[in-house]
Amino acid sequence: MLVSQLLNPTLREVPAEAEVISHQLMLRAGLIRKSASGFYTYLPLGLKVLKKIEAIVREEMDAKGGQEVLMPIMQPAELWKESGRWDVYGAELFRLKDRHNREFCLGPTHEEIITDLVRGEIRSYKQLPMLLYQIQNKYRDERRPRFGLMRGREFVMKDLYSFDRDEAGLHESYKKMYDAYCRIFSRCGLTFRPVEADAGAIGGTGGTHEFMVLADSGENAVVHCSGCDYAANMEKSECRPQVIDDAFPEGKSKLVSTPGVKTIEDLSEFLAVPKSSTIKSLLYQGDDRIFLVLIRGDRTLNEIKLNNALGGFVSLQLASSELVQQTLGCEPGSVGPVGAPDGLLVVADQEVPLMKKGVCGANKPDHHYVDVVPGKDIRIDEVLDLRMVEQGEACLKCGAPLKEARGIEVGQVFKLGTKYSKALGANFLDENGVEKSCVMGCYGVGVSRTIAAAIEQNHDENGIIWPMPIAPYHCIIIPTSNKDSLVVETAEKLYQELKDLRVEVILDDRDERAGVKFKDADLVGYPIRVTLGSKTLANGQVELKERKSGDTHLVRVEDLSQQVKTRIEKALQYN
Ligand code: ATP
Ligand code: MG
Repeated sequence: MLVSQLLNPTLREVPAEAEVISHQLMLRAGLIRKSASGFYTYLPLGLKVLKKIEAIVREEMDAKGGQEVLMPIMQPAELWKESGRWDVYGAELFRLKDRHNREFCLGPTHEEIITDLVRGEIRSYKQLPMLLYQIQNKYRDERRPRFGLMRGREFVMKDLYSFDRDEAGLHESYKKMYDAYCRIFSRCGLTFRPVEADAGAIGGTGGTHEFMVLADSGENAVVHCSGCDYAANMEKSECRPQVIDDAFPEGKSKLVSTPGVKTIEDLSEFLAVPKSSTIKSLLYQGDDRIFLVLIRGDRTLNEIKLNNALGGFVSLQLASSELVQQTLGCEPGSVGPVGAPDGLLVVADQEVPLMKKGVCGANKPDHHYVDVVPGKDIRIDEVLDLRMVEQGEACLKCGAPLKEARGIEVGQVFKLGTKYSKALGANFLDENGVEKSCVMGCYGVGVSRTIAAAIEQNHDENGIIWPMPIAPYHCIIIPTSNKDSLVVETAEKLYQELKDLRVEVILDDRDERAGVKFKDADLVGYPIRVTLGSKTLANGQVELKERKSGDTHLVRVEDLSQQVKTRIEKALQYN
């Protein structure tokens, strides 16, 4: 390819609309252009990167026995009604009608379509396991489309669905995909962690991992152990309760006046007690149930744990002021657990019963109870792990300190179980002729998001630094003069040689200053740059530079092509 012919509009300025570096660089390097919020056109170089990631994904899916199919993007509402998701998916689902007023949606995911296919085509256990996948655009009307390809409303996903005879089979398929995902993201040159995640609304028999690319701009908080391989989403990560051995004064609990004290900070200051000796009391409403949640004042409640522990509500929120008033006769800021009405469920985080004494709200403005003994002065109905883990805490598995990091979710593997096969009737006959539901798993890779994640991890102040396996071209040739005929001719000769060796090479034949060409080459991030200057060429040499390390050295013209090829082959090797 010749740069003069390439649609590659690079920008010097950072576009105002782009907050994160990957978005800025994708626009500046001329990889994508926006058409509407969350919708992008891939320009030639951007599309090349996308296709490379797709190819890696495809190879790894095929290697595990995956069979590629292509399902429709438009999905009939009937199937979604059968699975029960039409009513619960909410505003993220793009819904539309055809000329006959029949309802459809644009696929945000394809469990319904694939299960419908399988129920029609699979009869016997002999056909299982079956792993079917596709690579295709998905549509989600995200509340906040942002960060370019990171969170689009149209994006490219690889989705694979596994169908097995039983849980053991599902486990095998899950492991295959887990391993394939590790290979995919390693091959893309990414630093990532598979983290235990919350099964959330998709439901299923449990077991799910998210693959997180570690980057400061990541939207997800993850926790990983410094001593072992434990890693989990912040929402999911488990913790050890901490026992505090403070000295506590003798004496019974008593009501004290705390004028103007509203927050835990105020309280700790006013009474001169550490925040870890205060108890936060929160009245919650989960669907039509109301309960009181207790957690140490210095801790953060994890609503996802709370919701999972209490059985999974459709809606879980802090009770409104009116509801607090009705239930406890006070403002939300004064809520406390002493004398909680009978029938009001009181759930406490594990650490609360371990507190020897504490300070808590009194259901009365400007007052608190001090010297309260949990379990004695306070009724606790259930003790649960309800808090957010904090950096430095001991790992539940090995005891080493946990670390916090930000992550970009590039993939997820999920054990679905029989949720969809039961709802839609995807059954098979086992060895004994008994009809059973297929046991399913689903596995997604955010192919387009992976481009953004790769840039977040691989860039410097000059631009993108593509890992070789996903670079749009492996090598760029830059003649620094358009007048020196030796330079021009040698550049063309090397370009031809490299093409003959099947190297993905691009020649910057533009009539531009060398500085402009260098800037663009760094911005786009080609892994290898070959520069031809009049002086060095007079000695029969050209300059070879590695984008990543910045290493530069002179190579004889006749050795250049083979050296470039060898370097590329080495960088592409992966066992
Ligand atoms: P998120 O929590 O980031 O919204 P998700 O968990 O809803 O993602 P999945 O249903 O697990 O997404 O989809 C599989 C993969 O598709 C994700 O791991 C992610 O890489 C990618 N993906 C999901 N939503 C988007 C989006 N709006 N834009 C780009 N990629 C996305
Ligand atoms: Mg996910």
